[in-house]
Amino acid sequence: MTRRLYVIIMAAGSGTRMGAELPKQFLTVEGRLVLERTILRFKEACPEAKIVTVLPKDWIEYWKQWCLEHSFYIPQIIVAGGFTRFHSVRNALSKVPDGAVVAIHDGVRPLVSVSLINAMCEKMSTCRALIPVVSMVDTLKVLDKDAEGELQTALGASVDRSRIFGAQTPQMFLSEELKEAYSLPYDTSYTDDASVAQAKGIPLTYIQGERYNIKLTTPEDLELASAILKIRKEC
Ligand code: C5P
Repeated sequence: MTRRLYVIIMAAGSGTRMGAELPKQFLTVEGRLVLERTILRFKEACPEAKIVTVLPKDWIEYWKQWCLEHSFYIPQIIVAGGFTRFHSVRNALSKVPDGAVVAIHDGVRPLVSVSLINAMCEKMSTCRALIPVVSMVDTLKVLDKDAEGELQTALGASVDRSRIFGAQTPQMFLSEELKEAYSLPYDTSYTDDASVAQAKGIPLTYIQGERYNIKLTTPEDLELASAILKIRKEC
């Protein structure tokens, strides 16, 4: 890939589902912060990459202080997040020049492998947007909530599991194209960057994602992440 890589690490969420005092990106898994692990993973894969870290406005000083106290000297462009993930990405893209490849990654996915990042960088020389996806292992049900909030079978609705995939991050794009896509007005259907790119007509290419590239969302995910790191001897 001849373009320079910019990696936007999305860490401006408040992570309320984790039920912890700290946002989940600042929790510790096997002796390292989740955010620290995620940034290190990209630096290991692409030492030349520029890192843009997006944080909640009120946690920027905390992170800067943590980096100083722990001699975490990886250069980062720090950006304040926005009201939604969409607005956070838009803020971060203002720091990314045209003519680069931009990778957007959830700060709470520290288990992404170096080999997936490298495979994606290589493939970006032949495509315009690259999205890692995983197939569904469970049978999928379409259900509705009734007036009492109980789940009920949605009549007539069925899902062909072979056509359903889960989208992960990192998602990679040509920076000038993604910046243009993010000039679209916000829509609640934009739940990832691929959906914004698609709305702008950018053709999406897919690559096999990773079962363990999980988004740490609940306390069980932290336990799972610890176990995976121990098995891989990455503690
Ligand atoms: O909320 P969700 O789990 O979908 O968040 C995915 C990622 O986006 C997380 O890493 C979170 O920190 C980030 N995010 C953000 N700005 C927001 C909301 C979420 O950077 N306003």
